[in-house]
Amino acid sequence: MFFRTYGCNFRCRKFGRPRDEIIEGPNPEVIEIIRNIDRYEKFEDLPLVTSGCDTYASIYPEFKRFNEQDDVDAIVDKMHAIIPQGRWNHGSEDDIHLVITGGEPLLGYQRRYPELLELCRSQGLRDLTFETNGSQWLYPEVKDYLFEEFTRAGRDYDRLTFSVSPKLPCSGEAWEDAINPTIIKSYEMIGMTYLKFVVATREDVADAERAVEEFRHAGFGGPVYLMPMGGVPQVYNLNTQEVARLAMDRGWRYSPRLQVDIWRNAWGT
Ligand code: SF4
Repeated sequence: MFFRTYGCNFRCRKFGRPRDEIIEGPNPEVIEIIRNIDRYEKFEDLPLVTSGCDTYASIYPEFKRFNEQDDVDAIVDKMHAIIPQGRWNHGSEDDIHLVITGGEPLLGYQRRYPELLELCRSQGLRDLTFETNGSQWLYPEVKDYLFEEFTRAGRDYDRLTFSVSPKLPCSGEAWEDAINPTIIKSYEMIGMTYLKFVVATREDVADAERAVEEFRHAGFGGPVYLMPMGGVPQVYNLNTQEVARLAMDRGWRYSPRLQVDIWRNAWGT
């Protein structure tokens, strides 16, 4: 179950665009969509983009109305209406795993997660992942809640996962904002944590190596993944073999984009 929150502290305008391009505001593809925004009625009508953040409709205010706005009870009811028998636990191998993604899922609304997660736990939820850009601290009360209730104070460490995708210079975000070893180290203290870098060129991989060095220096011990850039198959497919080889050469792991392979990154996937 993927639960996508709206809003992000980054914009990642430069994915798939020249490094030296100067972009103020949204990337040119998104500007064009905003210009024609009245043509679109619902999320699924919006075009896919080949550059910049591929979930642009979850980050720019112009698209806020396309996102559903519900209170915690209604969100949980919708999730329970989707999962089999309205339950998360189906015998350990078949348990449904909740992935909270974004946008950036650890912005201020993380304060509401204990309430939301308690409702899910009452229906058997045990496995939880946050897909984060790794720039946000957990609030102390949220951190304590996750540690106590999900990893059962460290005994079930791998039931809570932080899938951290720190943004490299190819995203257009500044290094000092995007690479935050002490924040990632704080996630690792309460749950299984890995790094996942989105790359297209050897220059990007060199940046990933520099970032990993900083994370390791801070004591981060988790695995590292490379993932090919590309929100649409024609871009993504250019990169897959080369990125897999570059990952293997470094003893890292390769991550496909399953939603591109299967659904061509359609909205809702
Ligand atoms: S951090 Fe993720 S959600 Fe936020 S702008 Fe970048 S790619 Fe999009």
